[in-house]
Amino acid sequence: MAEYSEEQRKQLQDLLGKWRSKLRLDQWIVRVQWDRLPDSGEGTVLEIQPVEGRQFANLRVGTFFEQTQSQAENAACHEMFHLGFNQMDVVVEQMLEQLSPQMRELLRTLYHEQVERIVDWLALITAPMDELR
Ligand SMILES: [Zn+2]
Repeated sequence: MAEYSEEQRKQLQDLLGKWRSKLRLDQWIVRVQWDRLPDSGEGTVLEIQPVEGRQFANLRVGTFFEQTQSQAENAACHEMFHLGFNQMDVVVEQMLEQLSPQMRELLRTLYHEQVERIVDWLALITAPMDELR
């Protein structure tokens, strides 16, 4: 498990705070779980997991500190956009509960792929990465 310096912790917290504020999501509380790795596995930069029914989310750190400054900005912005989609995620999940298990899995995958594309797109417009300018 990686050890993070005070400087690194502050760097991430500051970026999350900056983008949470810019996206008008100040009502959300984001807790960094420094001792947990992302569930999504290798290559994940950051991973946010909102807690159901609350404006509270846990955030796990993957390769964040291997990113360039603009990639780090983009990653923090990306995760904050996910919070903006949380209510839609909840409603879609409720609709999926009505379906058969196979259909639910299929449509859940399709939905999350599409949300990921939209969030990537929004984050790229909002916090452009130098590498892709
Ligand atoms: Zn994402």
